Amino acid sequence: MAIELFNLVLKSSKMLTPNTKHMTFVREDGKKLDYIPGQFVTFTFDGSDGKPKRRSYSISSIYGQSDEIEIAISFVQGGIASEALFKMEPGQKFPAMGPAGRLILQEEPISRCILMATGTGVAPYRCMLPQIAEKLKNPDFTVELFLGVRLREDLLYGEDFVEFAKAHPNFKFHAYYSREDSELKPYEHKGYVQHAFANLNLKPGADVIYLCGNPNMIDEAFQKLVAMGFATKDIRREKYISSN
Ligand SMILES: Cc1cc2nc3c(=O)[nH]c(=O)nc-3n(C[C@H](O)[C@H](O)[C@H](O)COP(=O)(O)OP(=O)(O)OC[C@H]3O[C@@H](n4cnc5c(N)ncnc54)[C@H](O)[C@@H]3O)c2cc1C
Repeated sequence: MAIELFNLVLKSSKMLTPNTKHMTFVREDGKKLDYIPGQFVTFTFDGSDGKPKRRSYSISSIYGQSDEIEIAISFVQGGIASEALFKMEPGQKFPAMGPAGRLILQEEPISRCILMATGTGVAPYRCMLPQIAEKLKNPDFTVELFLGVRLREDLLYGEDFVEFAKAHPNFKFHAYYSREDSELKPYEHKGYVQHAFANLNLKPGADVIYLCGNPNMIDEAFQKLVAMGFATKDIRREKYISSN
């Protein structure tokens, strides 16, 4: 799938959490973006040093529901992309390119897929939901999604995953809160999301793990998984860092 260049025009946006915006774009040329769930698009902004700055955002659209390109962006104070995207009004556009990225589901003989994210790192997993639903038709296959945020109010797309879990018994959703003090619902836990591994009875060779979002979470999780005997090919990672 070749990377294309296009302008993305903002159609609408709404706050998902106090710090995260859900933004819906369409291509200015009216074409559909051909992508695989889990991939991202990259916007180009003018840097203050006169050089273009590239910032990538995972596509969070529920795949196949429409041709619109949805993303979830967390605001970073003083960030080039954050400042530009949070100020955008419907009808405005930025140059972009895509799709790219290898955090995608594969056809493979495994019994469980663990999808772990912090914050907006859950966006690619939302996009994968229709694909996951297909895979869950196999009753011997399970998917467990772990999303780590600071507080319950930061739980982006939580209701989508709760509803999906209700409809698919072999899909489990776990929310992890690093700073929440209130009483927890059955799918909620306290602590850092990567600490969930201890209770999962993980099986190298039978399980594959996807990690997306905060680089510190990914590095800590990766080290733990390698120490448990996981092959690096079975730990799929996408770190959310700015490219330049
Ligand atoms: C493949 C890929 C996919 C991505 N997908 C998403 C996505 O779906 N949603 C999303 O929100 N982001 C995503 N990111 C991160 C995104 O590309 C930007 O790095 C992020 O939005 C910050 O860019 P900025 O220009 O606003 O801030 P910058 O100008 O890059 O940073 C400004 C300052 O803030 C610091 N900083 C940068 N990020 C953070 C942070 N998260 N927390 C605290 N300080 C920070 C920087 O070190 C710098 O000092 C993705 C990154 C990659 C590589």
